[in-house]
Amino acid sequence: MKENRPDCPSCKSKNTCIIFWGYPGDMEWYLDAVAKKEIASGGCTMSSNDPKWQCNDCRHRWGKRVDEEEWELLYDEDYPYTESGY
Ligand SMILES: [Zn+2]
Repeated sequence: MKENRPDCPSCKSKNTCIIFWGYPGDMEWYLDAVAKKEIASGGCTMSSNDPKWQCNDCRHRWGKRVDEEEWELLYDEDYPYTESGY
């Protein structure tokens, strides 16, 4: 994890995380990251206006969902979802 997480625009908390959308390819990584609040589960269904960030304190969500390319820039690794479900 090397991205700089923004402060929550609603409550100014720094306790924010990125929202992961879709099916994780690596369930172990996924559950671990969710448990550590590094990511939040966005669910398996994506729309065209999904948020990118979630505040762990007030649950506010904002931003625009990262696509695969942006994820790789942020994390320097493949977007960890599988192709199944699409
Ligand atoms: Zn907040």
